[in-house]
Amino acid sequence: MKKIDVKLKTNPYSIFVGKNILSGILKKHDWKSVSKILIITDSNIAALYTEKIKKIFQVVPKEKMMFVIKAGEESKSSKTLSEIYSFLIQNNYGRDSFIVALGGGVVGDISGYAAATYMRGISYCQVPTTLLAAVDSSVGGKTGVNFLKTKNIVGAFYQPKFVVADLDFLTTLPAEEWTCGLGEVLKYCFLSDSNSINYFQKNLEKILNNDLMLIEKIIIDSVKIKSAVVTQDEKELGLRQILNLGHTFAHGFESLLKYKIKHGEAVIAGIGCSIILSYKIGILSKEKFLNFVNLIKMFEAKINLKKLNKNKLYDAMLKDKKNKLGKIKFVLLKDIGQVLIGVEADKQQVMDTFNDYTYYFENK
Ligand code: ADP
Ligand code: ZN
Repeated sequence: MKKIDVKLKTNPYSIFVGKNILSGILKKHDWKSVSKILIITDSNIAALYTEKIKKIFQVVPKEKMMFVIKAGEESKSSKTLSEIYSFLIQNNYGRDSFIVALGGGVVGDISGYAAATYMRGISYCQVPTTLLAAVDSSVGGKTGVNFLKTKNIVGAFYQPKFVVADLDFLTTLPAEEWTCGLGEVLKYCFLSDSNSINYFQKNLEKILNNDLMLIEKIIIDSVKIKSAVVTQDEKELGLRQILNLGHTFAHGFESLLKYKIKHGEAVIAGIGCSIILSYKIGILSKEKFLNFVNLIKMFEAKINLKKLNKNKLYDAMLKDKKNKLGKIKFVLLKDIGQVLIGVEADKQQVMDTFNDYTYYFENK
């Protein structure tokens, strides 16, 4: 088991990564000040793990209830949030109660936000059950829901008491959800160093075949990077923006395709576009660029830009909430571990990037 400390000044906490570790961590946690626990999960996870969850939580000597939301992004809504609040009120959950967010990003985000807002904030922890949630959304305290078809538009920064990524829950993850998580892992490799990226490239085949030892290592490496960044910039005032590598493009694809694609697949394509644009505006050398192209080519290109209306795509990117004054701000790559934030580019360069994406990634 590995413990990674997120050394925030006001709310420090630890992230634990390992196999079959949840019970031991729950046992050690100090529950003295907690009255009741609400475990929030989704219908898919409940179908697979209700018995296991009940058994594991027996080590916590407190009253526990479970609240199951319907699996899927549609549940990350104000409606589901109201249902959680109602359940908490009707079952007399007080200020000293505790929420366990046990699931993927959807469960993590909405449960975290319920915890952040119920009675002006109660304690919670994250138990991510998807690779994406383990490496990304469970770390850093971003919580929230979608509203009026706008992703994550209502939310809060609210840090958990601890995070437990127990690989025992990951074995049932559908194949497409692995790819989704690997998109973010790829991002962390680019933000890290050449060792990480070489390791990832060398082992990608085995990782794609669910080798749990390797997956444990990539989760640990990703979480280390994310927690280091979040520690320095909890509220995304500067440095934390490097975590948006590939995401300006990715959000454009997702919005144009009405979220019918997986976030991780959009991120992989988004990173592809980001390195093309980085090369185009002259901050990334040709040699490195071609190396990175080969790495990204190892993933199947799921986004087909050839078929998309590129003007609409550009407009969708303009609407990203991270932009200011009608300019698209990109996070671009100079080298592995060297990122520039807030870079502007001409519309033509962006349109050319879309065409080059087709050339490099869609005509394999
Ligand atoms: P994210 O990819 O942001 O973590 P979700 O929370 O929507 O997104 O999870 C993706 C899908 O995977 C959902 O359908 C969810 O029910 C399912 N899921 C989550 N964890 C597991 C698991 N350990 N085994 C099987 N399916 C899971
Ligand atoms: Zn992401």
